Amino acid sequence: MIESQYFNHAVIKNKKIINEDLCMIDFKIENWKGHIPGQYSEMCLTAENGYQAIRPYSIASTPKIDGASFLVEKIPNGEVSSFLYDFSDIGDKIQISNPIGMRFILQNKKIPIFIASGSGIAPFISMSNYLKNKRELFYMYHWSKNFSGLVNFMENKKDLNSFYFPSITREKPLNWLGGKERINSKTFINLDKNKNYELYICGSDLFVENALEIISKIKINFDIYTERFGS
Ligand SMILES: Cc1cc2nc3c(=O)[nH]c(=O)nc-3n(C[C@H](O)[C@H](O)[C@H](O)COP(=O)(O)OP(=O)(O)OC[C@H]3O[C@@H](n4cnc5c(N)ncnc54)[C@H](O)[C@@H]3O)c2cc1C
Repeated sequence: MIESQYFNHAVIKNKKIINEDLCMIDFKIENWKGHIPGQYSEMCLTAENGYQAIRPYSIASTPKIDGASFLVEKIPNGEVSSFLYDFSDIGDKIQISNPIGMRFILQNKKIPIFIASGSGIAPFISMSNYLKNKRELFYMYHWSKNFSGLVNFMENKKDLNSFYFPSITREKPLNWLGGKERINSKTFINLDKNKNYELYICGSDLFVENALEIISKIKINFDIYTERFGS
């Protein structure tokens, strides 16, 4: 069993099922000292026979001193995500590492643009709420197959189609005013070529590759940061 200073004891304080494949889990974590928006932690599950499974998850909450929240997408037959989505419950104990990674943290030196698909929105919930608390500007693009997957729609809808650009690719909600297409060459036409942007892309490997290809054809100088969740 892993018992190093690297992992902390954590207990589930709250769990919200968002839709058929997403949930948000809030943990109280021992020895937690906050995080930098964009960092992730490793979760370690231990079975009764001692078998352990460890997976990284982006921290979705704004920095706090007593714990963190994680947006988990249930992957079919996924060992850790299925357990967290289907079986974990309030009061359950697991181990969570201290925050990891300085590569994808919010720089906030230029105008931040967040580009996410699905659960790739997780680090941007942390980053955008952090910026909102400081009343600072950002743009957010989020692709989801359905409306319920736009997990932070309500808190951003006042900026719909000005700073917040959600797109739904499978469902067709009535009176939907956001985007309906996948990321494409017209997605970023609203950006001002005379401004300086730092661009953050997060989601599946395929989504990140697609986004990078599209962005490489735009004649704007971006600082680009990517986080790939897997295939
Ligand atoms: C830095 C980092 C941050 C991450 N943050 C998050 C997060 O905030 N929220 C989140 O839900 N996930 C996140 N992930 C993905 C997460 O770590 C796991 O890979 C994912 O939950 C699947 O683990 P599992 O044990 O359920 O599946 P596994 O048992 O490891 O895999 C089962 C099958 O699913 C495939 N698979 C694995 N991951 C994915 C995927 N993302 N999409 C489609 N198929 C996949 C595998 O190839 C395998 O065939 C992050 C990954 C990285 C590298």
